[in-house]
Amino acid sequence: MLKTFPKGGLHIPDNKLSEESPIKTIPLPKIVQIPIAQHIGTPPEIIVKRRVRVRTGQLIAKATSMISANIHSPVTGMVMKIDNFTDASGYKKPAIVVKVEEDEWVDGVDTDKSLNENIDYSKEEILSKIKDAGIVGLGGATFPSHVKLNVDNYSTKPELLIINGVECEPFLTADHRLMLEKPKELIVGIKIILKVLGIKKAVIGIENNKPDAIDILEKEVKTDPGIEVSALKVKYPQGAEKQLIKAITGKEVPFGKFPIDLGIIVYNVGTVFAIYEAVQKNIPLIKRVVTVTGKSIPDPSNFWVRLGTPVQHLLDMAGGIPEDTGKIINGGPMMGKAVKDFSIPVTKGTSGILLMPQRDSIRGEVQACIRCSKCIDVCPMGLEPYLLMNLTEKVLIDRAKKEDIMMCIECGSCSYICPSNRPLLDYIRLGKAAVKNELNS
Ligand code: SF4
Ligand code: SF4
Repeated sequence: MLKTFPKGGLHIPDNKLSEESPIKTIPLPKIVQIPIAQHIGTPPEIIVKRRVRVRTGQLIAKATSMISANIHSPVTGMVMKIDNFTDASGYKKPAIVVKVEEDEWVDGVDTDKSLNENIDYSKEEILSKIKDAGIVGLGGATFPSHVKLNVDNYSTKPELLIINGVECEPFLTADHRLMLEKPKELIVGIKIILKVLGIKKAVIGIENNKPDAIDILEKEVKTDPGIEVSALKVKYPQGAEKQLIKAITGKEVPFGKFPIDLGIIVYNVGTVFAIYEAVQKNIPLIKRVVTVTGKSIPDPSNFWVRLGTPVQHLLDMAGGIPEDTGKIINGGPMMGKAVKDFSIPVTKGTSGILLMPQRDSIRGEVQACIRCSKCIDVCPMGLEPYLLMNLTEKVLIDRAKKEDIMMCIECGSCSYICPSNRPLLDYIRLGKAAVKNELNS
């Protein structure tokens, strides 16, 4: 029987419209807008000025604290502006605008270097390359990878590396394509991470709706007893860290604890590929795979996208913006967030852009709760979403805290299933923000 997590979860039509679309490299945009706050932690310090020419891969913002990450120019060109611009969060934040010229890579990068299956670097060299490259978790968490990989930071010794190839969000196919198209690079990336962690065991978790990816990676690891592929039953939100760990190991990460407290480290396949490129080719994190999709999009696609590229450019490459567009989502339909317009740039955390047609964008009229308990049944964290919403609505924040509102992983399953169209997750997010404000005040 296929493994999965036991508590809650649901099956959602996966709408993987772009799964057959190989990852294309698209022409560079005319202008890139590179936000400085692209990760969890302190934003880096800008080290370039206006009217300076930068080269592709050049450091333009330097990490200033332990939990921070470098940012490199994704293109060659002239720095036109350094100012505050609205990003995907809806807030104005500092960004560097570069007018794009033909690529000229910074010295030391070897984009054409062929794959080397031997990991010829020391642990210290690998960590330093990953830190220099500004790599952060590309599965959505955007936590700086060099911090997560530094085992000296932990009191528990790592024992198992889990690679997240689940991609359970409907519509998104970036990780799926990466597994199909770059399996050898991913295995080398996994070996690099194993070397840094000083362990020998890795499990790649992939849901059973990607049999081709399971097949190709199983063939790649056949002669490698330390790495195995675990085919998982399809269930949302299995890509969430705690649910994936439970599915693969049967272990539960307690509230307030981290996977490393169980000796486990989890990396998304996109991050593994970025680590491979940084260590073997000295390529900093300046690009990522982005799925551009939606039911009315002429050509749902997966693209290699330079960071800072405006979403509008991606949509032009996918056949244009459909007339019936009602909503633009940064990410997938379950955990993604609606954004205001097409001018926002792609950042390290952008896994997909989803355009929803008008007919699917309108929420149903909110009705009274009929106490059907469906929201409780699907909650993978064992919470009572209807109660958390009610408590937040009545501003009973202490009570919401006691009911473990902070355990919510914002998977959206409760809102999706509610027959009364209650905006459960919207209120839960408000409640969580209120708890955080209380803690910070
Ligand atoms: S799913 Fe909706 S209607 Fe049912 S108990 Fe939860 S909030 Fe109430
Ligand atoms: S959004 Fe939060 S409360 Fe709702 S199902 Fe997911 S974890 Fe549970």
